[in-house]
This record gives sequence, structure tokens and C-alpha cells, in this order.
Amino acid sequence: MSLTGKTAIVTGSTSGIGLGIARKLAAGGANILLNGFGDAAAISAIKAELSAPGVRVAYSSADLTKPEQVRAMVAQAVSELGGADILVNNAGIQHVAAIEDFPEDKWDAIIALNLSATFHAVKAAVPAMKAKGWGRVINIASAHGLVGSAHKAAYVAAKHGLIGLTKVIAIETANEGITANSICPGWVLTPLVEKQIADRAQANGTTVEGERTALLSEKQPMHRFSTPDNLGDLVLFLASDAAASITGAALSMDGGWTAQ
Ligand code: NAD
Repeated sequence: MSLTGKTAIVTGSTSGIGLGIARKLAAGGANILLNGFGDAAAISAIKAELSAPGVRVAYSSADLTKPEQVRAMVAQAVSELGGADILVNNAGIQHVAAIEDFPEDKWDAIIALNLSATFHAVKAAVPAMKAKGWGRVINIASAHGLVGSAHKAAYVAAKHGLIGLTKVIAIETANEGITANSICPGWVLTPLVEKQIADRAQANGTTVEGERTALLSEKQPMHRFSTPDNLGDLVLFLASDAAASITGAALSMDGGWTAQ
């Protein structure tokens, strides 16, 4: 399958799952607009790694908690790379605290990035997709878009909202050559999860290795982490013609987490 001539925006692609997705889409032939925080040298290295004949790579430093920067990122994809054909809304943050202690600024930041940024990006990108009669919206939700866990009020609320938003986008664009789907990963070993494991080890006076095993076995029947590459392959499939009639779905890759 070739995505040659298509342009993909992958938010939060300087790290973790987003980087895995950007690598797979670039290998599939798509131009890539990278986005996310990180030091300039590391971002330049990612740009160089992904660039290939027929694959152009650009970078947007947009802070996606700011709606005007989200719109500028989509406009940059269209002006520099020729479109906003595949939009992967992946950037996300986490904060873990009991509801009565949950900081209000953390609530606002998580809702802004994990939910509202996708609304603003899709609103800006859909006209370009409609003009071409082809588009893919792929939202990285979570098992926490389908079920809750203690101490993750903002994250669980945002991810449930993201799955609902995705359904509406799918319905509205169903006959425009556009699909919109959510992916719901279980545990993936990325900096976002490494921090939770380190915090648990510190709080419980245990080891990182022990907490890694405990984290998996608490939630997933399958005691293995999915990888950013695994997620990238699923995104690549959703971008392909084979997935042209999959829309409005919430696809789990969670080691059985939500089968229970
Ligand atoms: P990560 O921390 O490795 O990467 C997050 C990315 O988002 C980075 O590139 C970061 O720079 C970027 N980012 C953070 N704030 C931003 C902002 N304001 N504007 C623009 N970019 C910003 O995290 P990850 O684990 O790869 O998570 C990626 C997505 O996958 C998130 O939406 C997360 O909720 C979801 N997810 C992760 C897991 C997991 O186990 N790791 C499980 C389910 C869902």
C-alpha cells in the first residue's frame, strides 16, 4: 500500500506512540508534519530519519492547548506539504490524583490537549479533506476512553469525550470519502507511562521493574506492553483503502483490558 502524495499530520510525534505512527506513515510514503515538544537537535534528527525520496517532512512547534496554534499547524500542513489528508490526533498528557485533590489547572490542561485540540484540528482540516474527497481522522484515545480507573478524572473524561467526538465526525463525513476512528491502546511503554511507573515505585518504596509488572497485571490479561510500532501499523491500516468503510469505530489494542 502506498500513501505517496498524501500528507499526514501527527500530533505529539516527537516521542512515544506519535513517533511510532509517524515512522510507519513515512515508511508508507506519506509526507509528515511532525509536532510536539523536544530539543531542536532531536527534532532535526527525527526529520532526517523520516525524510526519503518522495517523503517530505516538516515540523510544527504548535502548543495544541492554544486553538490558534492548532489552526496554524493545519494551515502549515496545507501550505508546506500540500494537504491535511491524514490527521492523527495523538498528543496527550496525564495527571494522577484523587478527585478531591485534583488540581484545577491540570484538569483544564488535560481537557484542552486530550480533547479540545482534536476538535480544533478536525474543524480546520475537514474542509481540505472534503475538497479532495478523501481523508482520514485517527484519534488516539485509550482503554480509558471505554472504562474508568481511579485517580484519572480528567484523562478518563477527555478520552471518553474523544470517542464521542470521533463518532460525530464519522457520521458527518460518512459520504465525503472521509473516515474517522479512535484507537484505544492499553499499556504502551512510553515516557508518559514510565513516569507513572517511577512515581508508583517512589510512593510504594518498590522497584521500577516490580511496578512495571504490577501495572500490567492489574489491568491487562495479557502481560505485555503494546509498542509504538504496533500502534503505527494499525494507523497505517486505517489510512489504507482496505479500511475505507471502517468509520466511527473505537478499536482496542489493549491486551484484553476492556474484554473483562
Ligand atoms: P509521550 O509523553 O511519549 O508523548 C506525548 C507527545 O505529546 C510528545 O511528543 C509531547 O511533546 C507532545 N505534547 C505534550 N504536550 C503538548 C502540547 N501542549 N502541544 C503539542 N504537543 C504536546 O506519550 P505517549 O504515551 O506516546 O502518548 C501518546 C498518546 O497515546 C496520548 O494521547 C496518550 O493519552 C495515548 N495513550 C498512551 C498510552 C500509553 O500506555 N502510553 C495508553 C493509551 C493511550
